[in-house]
Parts: sequence; C-alpha cells; structure tokens
Amino acid sequence: KSFSSFSLSEDIKKALQVLEYKVPTEVQESVIPLALEKTDLIVKAQTGSGKTAAYAIPICEMAEWLENKPQALILTPTRELAVQVKEEVTNIGRFKRIKATAIYGRHPFSIEKTELKQKNHVVVGTPGRVIDHIEKGTLPLSKISYLVIDEADRMLDMGFIEQVETIIKELKVERVTMLFSATMPDKIKKMSINDMRTPVYIDI
Ligand code: AMP
Repeated sequence: KSFSSFSLSEDIKKALQVLEYKVPTEVQESVIPLALEKTDLIVKAQTGSGKTAAYAIPICEMAEWLENKPQALILTPTRELAVQVKEEVTNIGRFKRIKATAIYGRHPFSIEKTELKQKNHVVVGTPGRVIDHIEKGTLPLSKISYLVIDEADRMLDMGFIEQVETIIKELKVERVTMLFSATMPDKIKKMSINDMRTPVYIDI
C-alpha cells in the first residue's frame, strides 16, 4: 500500500516524499480516508504509531490557503507535543505554505498574540493557554472546522479535561472532531459521545 491510494493533492504527496513517508502506517491507513470524508473519529493509538501525520495529512489537505483565520485547532497535553505537532504540520503542509502556530504555557503571550494576528491555518496548543487566548480575544475560533484532541488520556491524568470541554463549547458545531488516546477510560468515551456526531471507533 502507498499514499497514492488516498485522494491527496500533489503538494501533500510531494511533502510526504521529502519526509520519506513511503508507506502509510496502520493508523494512517484507517484515519486518512475517513478524515477526508469528514467523519468524527475516536482513535486508540500509541505514540510512535504515526498518529500525528494521521490527522495532520487530512488537515493540511483540506485547509484552504486563502482563509486567514485558523481552520484547525489541535489540543495537546504538553508544550513539547505542541511544538512537535506544529513541526509535523509545517512539514506536511510545506508546499501548500500551510502556517501553523504553537501556543502553550510559559511561552511569551505577546509573541503568540503577534503570531495569531498573522495568517494561520492551524493552531496547536495546550488547553490552559488556548483558554487564555480565547478570553483575551486573541484566538479567533469562527473558522475552526477541525478539532483534534491528542493524547486525551494524558489530558485526563493531568486534569485538563474540564478545560478541553470549555474550549469545545466555544467552537462551532459544524466541525470534524478527532480524538486520539493510548487508552480508553470511560470518562474519555463519555466525553466523546457528548461532543461528537456518531464517531467511528478505530482501535489499532
Ligand atoms: P507519532 O506516532 O506521530 O509520534 O510518529 C512517530 C514517528 O514516525 C515520527 O517520527 C514520524 O515522523 C514518523 N512517521 C509517521 N508516519 C510515517 C510513515 N508513514 N512512514 C515513516 N515514518 C513515519
């Protein structure tokens, strides 16, 4: 199997070649076609499975370059992951000139504010800092059509789930939601049922 079996534009396929992603991983094989069809997904996948590209590829594919406000919001439990995800999105979206910004705790707010004023397709952030920007009016949410909750079980362990719920309430209902988690405790399952439209479960 190869990435050419998915309906991806030349710009994205070229980026995957540069990254030397030749064969889709199992999670990418399952997630990419469903995400391109705008299906809500709950995915049980471990770090190292290629889960980041599994959501970053369809998001970069579907992002409209001309739109200046962010179209995708990716929530991560840690700043390290936020920075890593931003890099992956930037690499995959490189030939489409997709702009991603990472916002996270203990990072200068003013720098983020300036970045968020510029063109942005994808925002990656930790829940607390995302809420700070929402409250200060520095993160426009009106065009967010894709929400990713990455490492949801770690969000739960770190006590971030309430903040995630607060953020979800601010987003428009017409959106695609994808939740990734290494384990599936009941709280995560319940949360997904409330916030998603008949999600498809994927267990790798
Ligand atoms: P992740 O599970 O998202 O943290 O990804 C684990 C590692 O696999 C990262 O270093 C990616 O760059 C790499 N990776 C993701 N997808 C592929 C692929 N299809 N082929 C080769 N490497 C990949």
